[in-house]
Amino acid sequence: MTLPRIPRRQRPAFAASIFERALFDCLAYRQFGREQVEQVLRFFGTPSPVCVYCGTDKVSRWDHLVALRNGGETVLGNLVPSCGSCDDSKAEKGFELWMRSDTKCSPTTRKISDIEARITRLKEYAAHFGYVPTPLAERLTPSQALQLEELRSRLRQLRKDAEALITSYCPPECGLQEADTAANSAAAPVTLRVPVSG
Ligand SMILES: [Zn+2]
Repeated sequence: MTLPRIPRRQRPAFAASIFERALFDCLAYRQFGREQVEQVLRFFGTPSPVCVYCGTDKVSRWDHLVALRNGGETVLGNLVPSCGSCDDSKAEKGFELWMRSDTKCSPTTRKISDIEARITRLKEYAAHFGYVPTPLAERLTPSQALQLEELRSRLRQLRKDAEALITSYCPPECGLQEADTAANSAAAPVTLRVPVSG
């Protein structure tokens, strides 16, 4: 019997990163639909998508070669089919450095073959569609750039304030965080712990 996964505790840091991602996403040019998807598949020469980083056919995401936060946009030449493992491991790193790095789950760590050939092909992909990322500083007016920095600074503060409230309610020694992990591990009994009030 497979039971649904026990919900993980959501942390303010996670919420803040989603908010920040949404900001960068909405400040980036987007033109990527069915037509572009077909062009990507034609370029990589596969009838169904395979992960451009490791070659698996368990593709579940479209990854930005240049991350949104680093000035990447949602367009042909920057979006590539990826598996979840590669996308999570790469995060916002440059693809070339990450592929050769010993980051957990990188293609090098997983001993994927032809890494250099894959890197060359990815560079050809960006060049073929003439994609060059436009740094955010060039897309925004100085006043907009300032507003963005102010928002990010307020978000950092909000996150700190939220963490402080949580810590005062449940200090680290109350062990509630460990209970999250244990509850999701195989066959672990679910123990409800009472938070120590501060
Ligand atoms: Zn992959």
